[in-house]
Amino acid sequence: MNFDQFSLDARLLTSIQNIGYTEPTPIQQQAIPVVLNGGDVLGLAQTGTGKTAAFLLPILHRLLTTGTLRRTRTLILAPTRELAEQIHQACVELCKQTKIRSATVYGGVGKGPQIAALQRGVEIIIACPGRLLDLMSEGHVNLTAVEVLVLDEADRMCDMGFLPDIRRIIQRIPTERQTLFFSATMPSDIRVLADNILRNPVTVQVDLIAPAKTVSHALYPVASDQKRSLLFAILEQLSAGRVLIFTRTKHRAQQLARELSKRGYSTAPLQGNMSQNQRQRALDGFRSGHFDVLVATDIAARGIDVAEITHVINYDIPDTVDAYTHRIGRTGRAAQTGDAYTLAVPDDMLMVRDIERALGAPVERRCLEGFDYQGFAPEEQFKTAAPKPANARRAPQHAPTPARPSQPPHKRHRHAAR
Ligand code: AMP
Repeated sequence: MNFDQFSLDARLLTSIQNIGYTEPTPIQQQAIPVVLNGGDVLGLAQTGTGKTAAFLLPILHRLLTTGTLRRTRTLILAPTRELAEQIHQACVELCKQTKIRSATVYGGVGKGPQIAALQRGVEIIIACPGRLLDLMSEGHVNLTAVEVLVLDEADRMCDMGFLPDIRRIIQRIPTERQTLFFSATMPSDIRVLADNILRNPVTVQVDLIAPAKTVSHALYPVASDQKRSLLFAILEQLSAGRVLIFTRTKHRAQQLARELSKRGYSTAPLQGNMSQNQRQRALDGFRSGHFDVLVATDIAARGIDVAEITHVINYDIPDTVDAYTHRIGRTGRAAQTGDAYTLAVPDDMLMVRDIERALGAPVERRCLEGFDYQGFAPEEQFKTAAPKPANARRAPQHAPTPARPSQPPHKRHRHAAR
């Protein structure tokens, strides 16, 4: 199966070829024909499945083959600036052969450049709800010509309290439109929103809860006061790769990144207290290989799209199953393989059970060979995981990645964290 089957505009097919996509991912196979037909879509898909191109390609085809340009005909709402930027980048890549323009609108940076971009005329606005409402109230945004509305990561937008903003925005765009609604999970408030704004949607679903099948998971039980040394020991044993570490708080992210830098890792933090420019520098540095280790919080990490993340390490276990799915969705993207390690202290027991229930399978327990657990018995922990397969597919059962004793190449003593 290849992209030719969709009869997309030739310019888009050229871009697809230039980017290097050879065949559509499952979500693209399901969603593209429906969107091309003008239907509403309820997409149950996590990040990493190719959902961005699944909605962008048919939208771009529509913009190129019908109507006029230089009017805002598509509005894409996203929970975070990082995700908005990621969608924008995908748009820029796909639009290289065309005159279609997109602009991003999000808070935390000056309004001036965003207003200037809007005034030049764009077909696509990719926005976080708060700043968009701001610019709307100041008269800088005209949404009267919107034909397609996309809500991306709708569950996360609701988690972040954007539901009232979203409703306000939707009241201001034409009711005669196509709506594409993407969410990794479908809790009841999201279901209600979807029912309200979608018309006879076709549901497309890829891996509702289970994280990407290319990710193998492992749990490292540890006493809380040994977490840090265990993390350092794990990093020492990784032979190569790009590692994304998650912490519970901004402060912990900052502190851990500092410590890793001191230990010689090329590391940057990515947390909400950093300015947009600092965040972008960290992300760009990680993407280019300048940083090999990024220490992030959940919110800041939304939308990170770095294809070669080989390991996600949950230094702190996430607060929700949903967050677990999103975190480890950062590795194993687009059919590459990845490892997700979770350091779990005895207090994390309940969360471990919830995760396993959602995965429908136990997560493999591992002890790090050669690590001094100082009397703590990791093999005694979390014995009673009893996952009942929920409405998810089975979790992957990959062989554990062997620990390799060589000096990690990412410990190069070359970059300090910024
Ligand atoms: P997304 O789920 O949209 O965040 O996409 C995840 C990653 O998959 C991104 O790095 C995309 O560039 C990549 N991707 C999207 N579609 C394809 C495809 N058809 N083949 C290979 N990679 C893809």
